[in-house]
Amino acid sequence: TVSVVLFTSDLRLHDNPVLRAALRDAERIVPLFVYDDGLRATGFAVPNRSAFLADCLEDLDSGLRERGGRLVVRSGDVVEQVHRVVTETGAARVHVAAGVSRYAARREERLRAALGDTGCRLVVHDAVVTAVAPGELLPSGKDHYAVFTPYFRRWTSEGVRDFLAAPRAVRVADVASEPVPARAEITGVSPGLAAGGESTGRRRLRAWLSDGIAGYEDGHDDIAGDATSRLSPHLHFGTLSAAEVIHGASREGSPGAQAFVRQLAWRDFHHQVLAARPAAAAQDYRSHGDRWRADKKEIAAWCDGRTGYPFVDAAMRQLRHEGWMHNRGRMVVASFLTKTLYVDWRVGARHFLSLLVDGDVANNQMNWQWAAGTGTDTRPNRVLNPVIQGKRFDPDGSYVRRWLPELEGVPDRYIHEPWKLQGPDRASLDHADHADHADYPDPIVELAEGRARFEQARGA
Ligand code: FAD
Repeated sequence: TVSVVLFTSDLRLHDNPVLRAALRDAERIVPLFVYDDGLRATGFAVPNRSAFLADCLEDLDSGLRERGGRLVVRSGDVVEQVHRVVTETGAARVHVAAGVSRYAARREERLRAALGDTGCRLVVHDAVVTAVAPGELLPSGKDHYAVFTPYFRRWTSEGVRDFLAAPRAVRVADVASEPVPARAEITGVSPGLAAGGESTGRRRLRAWLSDGIAGYEDGHDDIAGDATSRLSPHLHFGTLSAAEVIHGASREGSPGAQAFVRQLAWRDFHHQVLAARPAAAAQDYRSHGDRWRADKKEIAAWCDGRTGYPFVDAAMRQLRHEGWMHNRGRMVVASFLTKTLYVDWRVGARHFLSLLVDGDVANNQMNWQWAAGTGTDTRPNRVLNPVIQGKRFDPDGSYVRRWLPELEGVPDRYIHEPWKLQGPDRASLDHADHADHADYPDPIVELAEGRARFEQARGA
C-alpha cells in the first residue's frame, strides 16, 4: 500500500503528524511537495520566501535521504499533480495538514472532489500548523475568540498536544521527481535573508532555549539587542512545530519562557480568527467606516524608509535588507502608516508580504488589522508616537544608526528627532566626516497633524 504526504506549511520530519500517519498506514509513502501554480498566481511566492523555501526543500530531501527515502517534487496545479501521483502509485490515502486560509480550504475541497473517483481518501490533520487547532477552543455560542486574554486562559489551561519524534526510516514508492530547486537560482532576494530548513531551525531553537529565552521577558523590546528568537520563518514554513517549541520553552520554565509561550498563543489566536473569518484577510474585521488617504509620495517614502522619522525608517530598511523586522518595529511602522498617514492597512500588509520571509496571511493580516484598529485590538484608536517609541526602545539610537548610516554622527539626544539638530551641534557635524546626514529627509508629516486627522476621522 502507498500513502501520499502532501507537504504544505509543515516542511519537517520532527513532530509531523501528517508524515507519521502516512507511515503508519502504508508500506511506502510519497513525500510530495508541489510548486503550486495557483499559489504562485496569488503573488505569494516572492523572492525572499521562495529562497527560504528552496533551503527548506533541500534540507527536507536530505533528511528523508538519511532515512532511506527522498522528496518528490512536482510543479503545476496542486490538485492535478496529487491526482497524477495517486494514479501513478495507486495510493489509498493522501494526508495533508489543515490550513486556515481561504486558499487552503479551497485546495482541500478541490482535492476531495478530484480524489472522489480514484477510491483514494483525503485525510486532513489538525494542529499541525498551529499548536492548538482553530475551532478547538470556542467561547460558548461563538465560532471563535475575538479577545486574546480569555483565549489565552483557555489555551493555557487545556494545554498543547504532545509532540512526536522524527521517523527512523522512510520507504518511498517508485515515482518520478523534478529536481529540488536551489536557492542560488532565485534572484531579487534580500542580502541579509536568513537560511531556511529544518536543521537550521532546530539549531536555532536549541541555541534559543539554552542562551536566549531566559532574557526574553526583559529583552524582547530591546530592538537593537535583537533579543527575540527569530523563529518566525521556521514557524511559518513549519520547519519547526509550534507544539514542540512550546514544550521546549515550557520545560525551560523561566519568566522569559512564559512570556515567549504567550507570543506563540498570539500566533494560534490569529489563526483561529482567520479560520473563522477568512474574509478578514482582505476586509476589515471590524469596520469603522474609514476613508483612508492614498498619497502616493507618502506611501513611497514609507516603503523606502524615507519618512524623516528615524525609528520608522530604520525598521523599513531592516525589512528590505533582511526580509524580517523586529516586532516593535512592525508595530510602530504599521501605526505610522495607518494612523499618522491614515493609509489603508491593506497597502502596508501588501508591502510586508512582498518582503517578509515569515509573511503569513493569518499573522500578517490580523496584526495589520490589530495595528490599524480594525481588528481585535481592544484599544483601536491608540496611536504609537515614533519619537517616543524610539527614545524608549532604542535609547542610544544604536538600532537607528545601524540602518541609517547617514545619521551615524548625530548625537544621541537628537537621534530620534534629527530635524531639531541646530546651532553648534549641527555645525560640528557639518565639519566632521558625517556630512551626509544632510541627505536624510525632513519629516513628511507633523505627528500632531496626523494624530488630529486620525482622531477626527474616527470620531475619537
Ligand atoms: P518572538 O518574539 O521570538 O516570538 C516567538 C514567536 O511567537 C514568533 O516567531 C511568532 O511565531 C509568534 N509571535 C510573536 N508575536 C506575534 C504576534 N504579534 N502575532 C502572531 N504571532 C506572534 N508574524 C509572522 O510570523 N508573520 C507575519 O507576517 C507577521 N506580520 C506582522 C505584521 C505586523 C504589522 C505586526 C505588528 C506583527 C506581525 N507579526 C508577524 C508578528 C511578530 O511581529 C512576528 O511574529 C515576530 O516579530 C517574529 O520575530 P521572532 O520570531 O523573533 O518573535
